[in-house]
Amino acid sequence: MNVVNIKPRLLLGPGPSPVPHRVRRAMAEPVIGHMDPQFFEIVDDVQSMLRTVFGTQNRLTLPVSGTGSAGMETAIINFVEPGDTIIVVVAGIFGHRMVEAVKKAGGHAVVMEIPWGQAASLEHLKQTLQEHPQTRMVAVVMAETSTGVCQPLEGWAQAVHQRGALLLVDVVTALGGMPVDVDRKDFDVVFSGTQKCLSAPPGLSPFTASENALERLDNRTTPVASWYLDINAFRQYWGQNRVYHHTAPISMIYGLHEALSLTLEEGLEKRYDRHRQVAASLWAGLEAMGFELLVAPSVRLVSVTTVRIPPSVDDVRLRHDLLHRDGIEIAGGLGSLSGKIWRIGVMGHGARLSNMIELLVALRRRLAEQGRDVPSGVEAAETAYRANNR
Ligand SMILES: *Cc1c(COP(=O)(O)O)cnc(C)c1O
Repeated sequence: MNVVNIKPRLLLGPGPSPVPHRVRRAMAEPVIGHMDPQFFEIVDDVQSMLRTVFGTQNRLTLPVSGTGSAGMETAIINFVEPGDTIIVVVAGIFGHRMVEAVKKAGGHAVVMEIPWGQAASLEHLKQTLQEHPQTRMVAVVMAETSTGVCQPLEGWAQAVHQRGALLLVDVVTALGGMPVDVDRKDFDVVFSGTQKCLSAPPGLSPFTASENALERLDNRTTPVASWYLDINAFRQYWGQNRVYHHTAPISMIYGLHEALSLTLEEGLEKRYDRHRQVAASLWAGLEAMGFELLVAPSVRLVSVTTVRIPPSVDDVRLRHDLLHRDGIEIAGGLGSLSGKIWRIGVMGHGARLSNMIELLVALRRRLAEQGRDVPSGVEAAETAYRANNR
């Protein structure tokens, strides 16, 4: 068998995002034991850097072994008991997944349905809480990768806590690309992934839970229906006791360590500004080319841009050409938006003006091949980039 031999790609889809050389180099370091004191130093650093990026002092802050979905399952399997009523905000694919996970955990899911491409209002949440006073938790996606909507969550925790419920937030496509502010916004259970705005490979799910949430865990009347994802079992390794539960994914944790170091070296505010600035340049470039963006500017997500595909364009052929001839990956729509939109990632290491220009130029060329001549978006992108510099 040959060795793995990968053609270079510019990853501008909704994840994975481009992984910087320093992260890949860290992952090539020698594997050591998961009980080696040398490794525990790395573990401590990772936890401390994760607290900074999450914006939390939560003791329970760690990377769950597995991709973002493992973090989702951890959140639901530990904090939902059979029979519990859980309100799930569904405004896209990732909200829908939480409904399925709640049902599998034996919970009763109350679906708060929002049209795709829009955000939920605080009033709607309050109304739903009033209709379901026995609600134990509200689950919501902050950055809906399937639609490109950013769900503002100001005031949500207060409304949820007033009812004695917990607030669970999916920040998979937010962490490292925009402020998450776990403590300031008073979120209870929060999970993310490494391959979006943190620009590490997929494989870990940064996770944090408040003391309020841990109290709920202590008061469970039924056992957690998972061996692997049982927080009280695996937290023994990540806490002072260092008790073996499962082998930590050593190389992945090296990679996350380096990705978090890069994030903090850049500075969180600077990093968020860079994402905003590059997204603004992409939006201006696309609009100059005559494209229509799916989401209103007020709730538009910085890390994923969704753009309507003009009716005469062959979606599959265009993405195929971009990938195989230009080496650029973007994604199509999911579910009801399949064939209707493209999803373009402005994530982590990939969030650079030069990448957006490369995409806009390639996109224009491939559209011309389909008989659709559109104006160049390059100048508009560059102008918007300069205008959004702060
Ligand atoms: C990518 C993503 C997930 C799932 O993460 P995986 O790493 O694919 O398991 C969950 N929620 C959102 C919002 C995502 O973008």
